[in-house]
Amino acid sequence: MPFHLTDEQEIMRAAVRQFAEAEVKPLAAVLDREHRPPLETIPKLADLGVLGMTIPPDYGGSGTDYLSFILALEELARVCATTAVMVEVHASLVATSILHFGDQAQKTRYLPELAAGRLIGAFALTEPGAGSDAAALTTRAEVDGDDFVLNGQKIFITNGGFAGVFLVLAKTSPEAGSKSISAFLVDRDRPGLSVGEPERKMGIRGSSTVSLLFDDLRVPRSALLGQLGQGFSIAMRSLDGGRTGIAAQALGIAQGAYEEAVAYAKQRVQFGQPIARLQAIQWLIADMATDLEAGRLLVYQAADLEDRGLPFSDVAAKAKLFCGPMASRVTHSALQILGGNGYTEAYPVERMCRDARITEIYEGTNEIQRLVIARAALR
Ligand SMILES: Cc1cc2nc3c(=O)[nH]c(=O)nc-3n(C[C@H](O)[C@H](O)[C@H](O)COP(=O)(O)OP(=O)(O)OC[C@H]3O[C@@H](n4cnc5c(N)ncnc54)[C@H](O)[C@@H]3O)c2cc1C
Repeated sequence: MPFHLTDEQEIMRAAVRQFAEAEVKPLAAVLDREHRPPLETIPKLADLGVLGMTIPPDYGGSGTDYLSFILALEELARVCATTAVMVEVHASLVATSILHFGDQAQKTRYLPELAAGRLIGAFALTEPGAGSDAAALTTRAEVDGDDFVLNGQKIFITNGGFAGVFLVLAKTSPEAGSKSISAFLVDRDRPGLSVGEPERKMGIRGSSTVSLLFDDLRVPRSALLGQLGQGFSIAMRSLDGGRTGIAAQALGIAQGAYEEAVAYAKQRVQFGQPIARLQAIQWLIADMATDLEAGRLLVYQAADLEDRGLPFSDVAAKAKLFCGPMASRVTHSALQILGGNGYTEAYPVERMCRDARITEIYEGTNEIQRLVIARAALR
């Protein structure tokens, strides 16, 4: 492929692929069937350095560039989308936010724990009345002496069932608008935090998706991340980078389904020949391969721009807008190539079809990506 990866990036990618094949792939169907998160994989991901890829070595991380992290997500998603999203939220949405906006004490306290996998991070923005319109959130954080007191509800929080720290967005002043929102680092053991039952979902079934209730939850002033009123811009900055991560997840799911379909087409014989010899199948495979290559270029370009400190928000939105629907297309084509077998749990493609769909929704729906792209185009 034309996008040039460095030797280090290629080596890292090969290491994650080997790990994913050995440790992640065998669990993927089990997690899906049992609706349970891959807790046993967390220490192994930490040992490999994957949980700390976005964290500098000074804080115990492996401190790679963002493109390397994106390659790792792609490799994990190729075999297990559930594992990929757990890592994405933890390392991208939470760890990078602490790195970019945390004070020294917060970095020292949280980043080594996150890199070592002793703490897993969750990102709590969405509420029953605030999804795409995130600024409409109503969770309140009121000043009381030296503390803030949080009241409100969050929904659909990935990793929420086992996370040790939650990055929570809440209103610190009653006015409407994004300037009234602040970000807090809330430890799981705070009294006043209740965690709901896991959602039963169409796909990424092993991923823990829960609601959170804050009932007079008290945090010290030192839990404020960034400045008062900076929470919305922290969330938007995190989601910009996160979009590349979800695009990489979509790309990896599509790649996994494509490989299954190619292998199947070569060995499945109908009408006296492998179905790969049929032009109808070849055209499906050609379209899938083209989709993958186009998506890959967009994803890597977004990550590369971020690494070079250039504006990347618009390209990240394009990568997500292309790769989400692309993953749905490619996984469905793969299922078609597998015929009846593709529709059964005997093959991973039906799971991949279900897993792909969420990449068109979370961290900004397709429609919200279009808003971001159009805003940049019409500036
Ligand atoms: C499995 C899962 C995991 C998630 N993980 C997290 C998490 O870890 N943390 C977190 O905070 N949130 C999380 N979310 C929430 C997710 O980010 C939201 O579901 C998503 O942003 C969409 O919000 P919504 O569901 O409220 O849909 P809505 O905002 O109600 O949108 C409904 C429909 O209207 C469209 N729409 C809305 N506004 C516009 C507009 N202005 N123009 C055009 N179309 C529009 C949308 O695109 C969509 O098609 C998760 C969700 C799921 C399902």
